[in-house]
Formats: sequence, C-alpha cells, structure tokens
Amino acid sequence: MNAPDRIIPIAAEGAACHSGKEQMRAAAAAAGKGDTLQQYARDYPVEAKGPHDQPQSMCPAFGSLRVGLRMRRTMTILSGSACCVYGLTFTSHFYGARRSVGYVPFNSETLVTGKLFEDIREAVYAQADPANYDAIVIINLCVPTASGVPLQLLPKEINGVRIIGIDVPGFGVPTHAEAKDVLAGAMLRYARAEAEAGPVAAPKNRVADKPTVTLLGEMFPADPVGIGMMLAPMGLAAGPVVPTREWRELYSALDGRVVAAIHPFYTASIREFEAAGRPIVGSAPVGVDGTADWLEAIGRAANVEASLIGEAKQRVLPAIQAALARTPITGRITLSGYEGSELLVARLLIESGADLRYVGTACPKTAWSAADCQWLEAKGVQVQYRASLEQDLAAMREYQPQLVIGTTSVVQAAKQANTPSLYFTNLISARPLMGPAGAGSLAQVVNAALGNQARFDAMSAFFGDTGKGDRAGVWEDTPQLRPEFRADTRRQLEKAAKKRKAEEMI
Ligand code: SF4
Repeated sequence: MNAPDRIIPIAAEGAACHSGKEQMRAAAAAAGKGDTLQQYARDYPVEAKGPHDQPQSMCPAFGSLRVGLRMRRTMTILSGSACCVYGLTFTSHFYGARRSVGYVPFNSETLVTGKLFEDIREAVYAQADPANYDAIVIINLCVPTASGVPLQLLPKEINGVRIIGIDVPGFGVPTHAEAKDVLAGAMLRYARAEAEAGPVAAPKNRVADKPTVTLLGEMFPADPVGIGMMLAPMGLAAGPVVPTREWRELYSALDGRVVAAIHPFYTASIREFEAAGRPIVGSAPVGVDGTADWLEAIGRAANVEASLIGEAKQRVLPAIQAALARTPITGRITLSGYEGSELLVARLLIESGADLRYVGTACPKTAWSAADCQWLEAKGVQVQYRASLEQDLAAMREYQPQLVIGTTSVVQAAKQANTPSLYFTNLISARPLMGPAGAGSLAQVVNAALGNQARFDAMSAFFGDTGKGDRAGVWEDTPQLRPEFRADTRRQLEKAAKKRKAEEMI
C-alpha cells in the first residue's frame, strides 16, 4: 500500500453519504487508499444500474462497529465526522451494545495538518492496556478514508494489545453486511499470521475431541447448537461462529476441518480460510433439500465415510419433514433483506408450501449462494442480488403478495398498501432457521402475519384517507384541501418555462 507523506484533506464540511461517490473515491485514491478501494471493489462488486448502483442500506460502518462491539476485551474507536459518529453510536446502543464506542474527533485543521493521525495514535497508546484488551479496532469513516488518514502506519501491537486499523467508507463498502466481513477478514488475517508464527493460546470453549466445522455468518444462538447435533453422527462438531465473540476463537475458526459459508458474502474472511487451506462449503441446513445437500457437502469436504453421511441425514431429515408438514404456510409472499440469509429463508418458505414469488438481497452474487439461487429459480422464484428499494417495491406491486417480508422501507410501503408485512431483521433473523427447529419456528411467525389481513382491512376502513396526501401532518383543525393553489402554482411554472424557452429562441 502506498503511504501518503501527508494527509490530503477532502472538504471536511459537507462531505457525507450524499457527496459524489466518484469524487470521494478519487480523493481517497490520490491520498494513498487506492489499493484498499480496489480490493473492496473486487470483494464487494456492485452492478451498474444508474442512480442505484448499490442497495440503500444504513451506514456500512455499522457492520464493522457491531462486530467490534460484540467481541469481548476489544475496544472499538471511530474516526470520522461527528454526525456520522453520532448516528453510529446511537444505532449501536439502540441494538444493545452496552459498551463504550471510542471517538477521535477532528476538524478541518487537524485533518489538513495530519494532526488527526497523531491524535489517533495517541488515543490508541492511551487505551492499549493488556489488562483490559486483547485488541483495539480503529475504523476510518468516509472523510478520514477519503483524506488518506494512514491507519496502516499504526503499530501492529502495543503492550501486547493488537491494533487493527480498517477503512470502511460508504463509497467503498456497499452494505453494512459486507462491512462485517471487512473487520472479520482483517482479524482472521492477523490471527493467521500469529498462528503461523508460533503457538497461540487455546480458547476457553475449544472442542478438542472432534474435528469442527467453522460457521461463517451471524446467526440465531440456537442454530449453532442445532447444527452441532446434525453434525454429530459424522463425528464432527460445530466450531466457532465468525465473526467471533473473542480473539482466541479466531484460532479455532482457522483450525476448523471445513468452513461453512452460511452467509455467502464473507469474501475477505473466505480468502483467509482458503489461505489456511480450509475447504469452503456454501448454503446451509435449511429445509429437507437444503439440509440433505449441506450434510452431503460438509461430509465430503471433511472426508467422512458415505455411510456416516447417510446416517446423519437419516437422523434429521424425517424430523424436518415432519415439522414442515405440521406447520404448512399457504399464501403468496415476497421477501427482501440485507442480512445475507435471504435465500436461505426463501428456501424454507418454499419447502413450507408458501407461494414465494420474489427474493431480493442487498448482498452480491457469490459462489457460496449459487446452489440456493439455482434451487429457487428452478421453483420459479425471481432472485435479485444487490436489490434496490425500487426493485423490492416493483416486485411487491407486480406479485400482489398476501405477505411482504422486507426492510423497514419496504414494510412501510406494504402497510400503506394495506398488506400484512414483517421486518426481516427484527422478526425473521431473530429466530432459528436451521434443522427441525427452523422449520417450525418460521412457519409460526409467517402464519400469524398472514392471518392479519382482516385487522388491516378494519384499520384501513376506520382511518380512511386520514393522514394521506394533503391531510398528512399535525393539524389543529380539520384540514381544508386547496387544489386550486396547486393548480395556480403549476400554471405559473408552466408560464415561466414557456417564457424561458421563448427567450432562448431569440
Ligand atoms: S461514514 Fe457512514 S454516515 Fe458517515 S458519510 Fe460515510 S456512509 Fe454516511
């Protein structure tokens, strides 16, 4: 990486999510961040589709921040504009971080003179106490990245505390899901170098008596337990979930016999596992078909005897089949989200009997979700990678679903259209998906929501067009519609446009 000899200031004031991405990228490249941005472009490709070349999502840095905050004995420090840091800390605490977020503030002067980097270095030294921390993570947000604040020049370790600096700009990392991979990948890389250099400390909960399967992607806490039970007949155990909850688990993760890319967008992390010589298996044990294929693929990748793979399948598939039959789902559904597990949920819905027409995911197409995509398309489902809000809404209009599962904005639109809806993140991601537990649990919440149409109809009938169009807002009196004002303004605008045109022709 080229280290700049001085920090190049991007206009500190007014540079934000809405600033020209190309301008920010060009500034970052000129300031020595070109290699990082090129790597991100390879890892997290976006499709060119006019104004929406990346999905609408929250600030991507939230993904990295969340991974850092969830790790024990890890401090996470942000370097960025105060407004960005305010939003990120607010969201962190909204999601129950219960940990302090470090912040190194800057102004135009400290950014221009390079003092910001010195301030970051000072903050890192002040915090690097091995009694409190295994690692300190520093995250450059948009402006410091575009200005080339050189976190790569920080010491790799201070007093035995690992120092990990990453750039997570909104103009380089498309979604917060992929930002989780930026930090997870950086940590795995560090841990791999440590393990290659000599013996490392064993984690507290290490499984020592069986080969393990590392699970890549955040999941509901009961899922790794269920996966462990499914793997047991093959002589395998569930290993750590990456992103991990403590530093030492990274060593166990790298030591797994196989890596299961449950979430398929962890490209940087997969690069580290491949460098450690671990085979990667995509998809997940969801539904009957998904579980059968996954157990087969994991067993083969771990060189398990065919008879044991057959036994593992025999033990779990009838139970999944029974759970699906016990709680069928009937109804037309569209589904979208930005977690990375959308295709897995879609498979489970189809196997439960749902008439699923569309699945949109903010994540990119990778090899690790290819089998899920093929399976869904063979069932007639439209699969949209890097789905924008507009595409999700268009699917809702086209397929007229009885239930919409989606992001906040999609759910809001569905409610306005009098259609029952469920938030993907809060209600679908917060329950088991794998094995028999997943089959029963998903059907419960989906069927309850599908049964809500009568309540929506009653509410719509009660409220009528209150709060819609010109009646939106807070009123002290009954709002009087004034369509003549709008018509008059329109006439004046048309007149002005005609006059301008006539003047141009002179
Ligand atoms: S750091 Fe996040 S909130 Fe701040 S400008 Fe970048 S994308 Fe927007």
